[in-house]
Amino acid sequence: MTRVCWRCDARTDDHRRVRCDCGEPLWLETDPDAAPDSFPTCVESMWDVLPLLGVDSPSPGNGLPAAAGGTPLVRTESLDTDGVAVHVKPEGLNPTGSFKDRGTAFGIAAALERGEDRVGTVSHGNMAESVAAGAAAAGMDCTVLVPADIADERLAAIARHGPRLVRVDGDYGRLYHEALEVGREAGVRFLNSDAPWRVAGQATTALEVLVQLDDAPDALVLPVSSGGHASGTWQAVRALTGAGLLDSPPKLCFVQAAACAPIAEAYARGDDEVTPVEGGETIAYSIANADPPSGSRALAAARATDGAVVAVDDAAIERAGERFAGAGLAVEPASATTLAALEPLRDARVLDRGDTAVLVATGRGFGDPDAAIETEHVELAAVGSLFA
Ligand SMILES: *Cc1c(COP(=O)(O)O)cnc(C)c1O
Ligand SMILES: [Zn+2]
Repeated sequence: MTRVCWRCDARTDDHRRVRCDCGEPLWLETDPDAAPDSFPTCVESMWDVLPLLGVDSPSPGNGLPAAAGGTPLVRTESLDTDGVAVHVKPEGLNPTGSFKDRGTAFGIAAALERGEDRVGTVSHGNMAESVAAGAAAAGMDCTVLVPADIADERLAAIARHGPRLVRVDGDYGRLYHEALEVGREAGVRFLNSDAPWRVAGQATTALEVLVQLDDAPDALVLPVSSGGHASGTWQAVRALTGAGLLDSPPKLCFVQAAACAPIAEAYARGDDEVTPVEGGETIAYSIANADPPSGSRALAAARATDGAVVAVDDAAIERAGERFAGAGLAVEPASATTLAALEPLRDARVLDRGDTAVLVATGRGFGDPDAAIETEHVELAAVGSLFA
């Protein structure tokens, strides 16, 4: 599986390289001639659409990797906003509750095929839970590096899958690079946010959407943090276009939380390069990466498809989360950003009345232990008089 740089086209067959000499992340080379010439008729899991990407795909085996993806695409009229028709891709239906299972599944399956038995990741959230679960399913040894101040309920969700858990002090961004280095030396496969295998697996979210709609929506909207999922989405669109299966690609629209928005800020400035920000607190805890390793690639994806990168504040995210809940969907704040983004995308004329937008509800989330229930929502009554 040759790896190639999206920016300078440098190639390598070294399956442990994740970054190019130019500094940008590598991804797997896609071969349009290796892809089938039509869409599959059914989408039960990510493995049904993965061949469309035109990469060497590993075999899914059984257990969690086999079950990843295959989420429905749901037309949700009650979320239509300002004349834009909304479809939702509920990624919370994945085995551990987020799209990360797609990337984990590809990574675990590919590592198994190489006879590797040790994986790791640097994460405090959904990716940690996903990798720990995937490794457990495959009987692999797993090391998860978490920040020292991680909340207990998150730690518990990761710990129940039995990985080696290591709390680390210091700069969590730098840790990403150090872990890759140490892992390479020790023969531990780190399935971090922009590992080429993870990105290829996460390309299946967009592949599924395009197959399920049998057409491109006007816009595909997803929250972005490291830029790994955004990169996979662009990889999918490029592969299908290259294979002649997509006439007009969707606009790729990415959303960040205003408190920590390095990619949206670079987009607004017209830069080609994402620079790290200080980064403040936001309720959208899954997308607060102040120094995104695939940020510049995500920025390029938005520009190349006439999409955009926008930021929304916590109040708007909260309101959007309530609208999702009212539509019957439990999503975490990171995912609610997609609905909050429709207004700024309309204002920027990226979306127009009559357009179709697919919102990728990336995860279900851990639940918020601090969430207050307003007491007027809860009644006190005798059961006998309930419906009197
Ligand atoms: C990881 C994650 C994201 C961001 O994905 P990146 O690939 O890091 O950009 C968004 N939403 C949820 C729920 C996530 O877990
Ligand atoms: Zn390069």
